[in-house]
Amino acid sequence: MTQPINQTQIACSIEDARARIQDNWERLCSDVARCAKASGRSPESIRIVGVSKYVDAPITSWLLDAGCHDLGENRPQALMQKHAWFAEHRSDLAEQIRWHQIGHLQRNKVRRLLPTGPLIHSINSERLLNHTHAEAQQQSLAIDVLMEINVSGEDAKTGLPEHELAAVLDRFSSHSSTNSPASGKAPDPGVHIIGLMAMAGWGTQPEQARAQFAHLRTLRDTIRSQTGWKLPELSMGMSGDYEAAIGEGATMIRIGSSLFKGVLDR
Ligand SMILES: *Cc1c(COP(=O)(O)O)cnc(C)c1O
Repeated sequence: MTQPINQTQIACSIEDARARIQDNWERLCSDVARCAKASGRSPESIRIVGVSKYVDAPITSWLLDAGCHDLGENRPQALMQKHAWFAEHRSDLAEQIRWHQIGHLQRNKVRRLLPTGPLIHSINSERLLNHTHAEAQQQSLAIDVLMEINVSGEDAKTGLPEHELAAVLDRFSSHSSTNSPASGKAPDPGVHIIGLMAMAGWGTQPEQARAQFAHLRTLRDTIRSQTGWKLPELSMGMSGDYEAAIGEGATMIRIGSSLFKGVLDR
């Protein structure tokens, strides 16, 4: 991936960029509300994760100023750096941010990532799940995670093969009593699997993307009826295909490029 851009590289003045981001955010919120209503859902049931990976920390702060408090980063290093930047330079905003780790996570980054309190969308193997659980317990943190599922069938995509999900959940609940699906108590330290995440395959047309999103929801519904795991959250949909994702039940959409329209490009 290319480096995140800074204020000297934006396509317009700083004032214009801030106004653009504000405008892009407001348009997105109203469009998400429109999509939600069109599928008989309430707009509040959809959380917009603003993907800030394209820009540096100061520009990311403009997204917060616009009203977006859920921030997604692809690379754990970038998330940790921005987390530290906000603590130092914008402590007024730092408390309001919910960080989302949306891209590939290596096991050797987990220990340092967890203190930022991230919601991790990209748990793509049983090994990473168990490792993250053990680290979270050691740090006495309750960490919400999503299992990333390979729905496109592309080899290049990371994600747990869907046929492995039920067994992975089963083994996880049997070795961690704290996470039994029925427990309704305050969160215990460790990992809490709250849903599923998927990316449509590269170059997928919105129509095909919709079928993949429907597939993820159906997988969740099947697991729910077979195992009792509730998995309420479905993270699916990006700038190009969020309408389809909302139609198929997304509860979190991950939006980057359309929030920076007019700022990254001339
Ligand atoms: C970059 C990224 C997004 C956002 O994509 P846009 O097309 O810029 O909206 C969403 N999810 C993941 C995992 C990403 O890496």
